[in-house]
Amino acid sequence: MYEFSMTEEQQLLLESIDEFMERGNYLEYFKECDREHKYPEKACNDYIEAGFHLLPLPEEYGGDNLDLVSNVLMTMRLYEHGWPALAVPSSFLQLDNILAYGSDWQKEAIITEAQAGRKPYTLGFTEPQAGSDNSAMATRATHKDGKVIINGHKTFNTGATVSKYMMCMAREYENENPYKDMSWYLVPLDAPGVKITPIPKIGCHCMPTCEVRLDNVELDENALVGVKGRGFYQLMKNFETERLMSCAVNVGLAKCAYNTAAAYAGQRVQFGDIIGKKQIIQEKVVDMRIKVITMEDFLLDCAWRKMQGESMGVDISLLKRYTGKAAFEVIDDAMQIMGGIGYTQDCIIDRLWRDQRGFRIFAGSEEIMVHSSARQLIKDAAAKK
Ligand SMILES: Cc1cc2nc3c(=O)[nH]c(=O)nc-3n(C[C@H](O)[C@H](O)[C@H](O)COP(=O)(O)OP(=O)(O)OC[C@H]3O[C@@H](n4cnc5c(N)ncnc54)[C@H](O)[C@@H]3O)c2cc1C
Repeated sequence: MYEFSMTEEQQLLLESIDEFMERGNYLEYFKECDREHKYPEKACNDYIEAGFHLLPLPEEYGGDNLDLVSNVLMTMRLYEHGWPALAVPSSFLQLDNILAYGSDWQKEAIITEAQAGRKPYTLGFTEPQAGSDNSAMATRATHKDGKVIINGHKTFNTGATVSKYMMCMAREYENENPYKDMSWYLVPLDAPGVKITPIPKIGCHCMPTCEVRLDNVELDENALVGVKGRGFYQLMKNFETERLMSCAVNVGLAKCAYNTAAAYAGQRVQFGDIIGKKQIIQEKVVDMRIKVITMEDFLLDCAWRKMQGESMGVDISLLKRYTGKAAFEVIDDAMQIMGGIGYTQDCIIDRLWRDQRGFRIFAGSEEIMVHSSARQLIKDAAAKK
């Protein structure tokens, strides 16, 4: 049952984000970064200086061990203030993965990057022939003279040019079942044989997305993360959290669009009065608001229940499918309310529209969310009859 209500600490956290974003007054700077495809270094440095990047870290690494709901709230609020998608110097998910499965040297390497506010690694999962269908993955790990040699072609690697490592999934070719045959290797991206090429894309310009070729990349065997052949299951453990966090971005971006467009409706005068007095514009504002409230409620419900230890795979699939589409509809309506100005690069809606669109594809597309939830829903309903 949904019992979430914000704690005093969470309210203070959100107030400190509000103050930080208002003080920084970053919107013009973010516009420039988006236009020039630049990582928002100045804002990220301020974020690091304010210590926000340390909050998700465990206490023994100098952090505050921020819980899942607080992470969701913080992420949502940052994006509500217009932070560029994917370009936050926080490594909550990456730390979770490495703390769960990493060896001592791997933990130290990744935590050092996180403490410095850098993105520690890019996830190397997708390949040109293996997108939604992970079983088609072909990158190969071979073992020779105490070394592991990686050969393969990864694609859509977020932040490959700004990260020190790739968490690279590779096949061992020891088990016919591909899901029981994948291992995770921590690959330094400056290793000989690694070639990184940025992929031009329509949005999320502040964080590069790249193609990474691995040609006889030789590593020590201690590059293995966790258990050989268990890489896929290790990755799946945190997939729920990754999807949940991507939904927090969806809701934050939608709130940003709603706030901008609803305020514009109250100011823009046409035919002698504000457009917000026209019922057709009011209807959009109302429908956008309903979607924002519903998304936020569902998001916090999922985050809170996950934090209580419930298995949330199905609900998070529904959440991802819903917030991906609903956030896009809100942003699209915001563009419509803003008229011509909404279609120009002078207006934040342009960036929100391009950035959020990608969230309907990555971290599991909205079609795959049907695939990962529908059978269970039907089975559960049938079991109740
Ligand atoms: C900006 C961006 C950043 C990314 N970052 C990363 C990253 O850091 N690391 C990483 O490993 N990957 C990353 N990805 C890759 C992303 O996870 C994949 O794009 C996604 O999984 C979809 O794979 P695909 O693009 O090959 O599409 P495909 O799998 O080829 O799908 C094409 C279409 O078919 C649909 N489809 C596929 N299978 C089914 C099915 N069984 N039933 C119904 N419909 C289906 C899809 O939903 C989609 O609409 C990123 C992608 C983008 C765009």
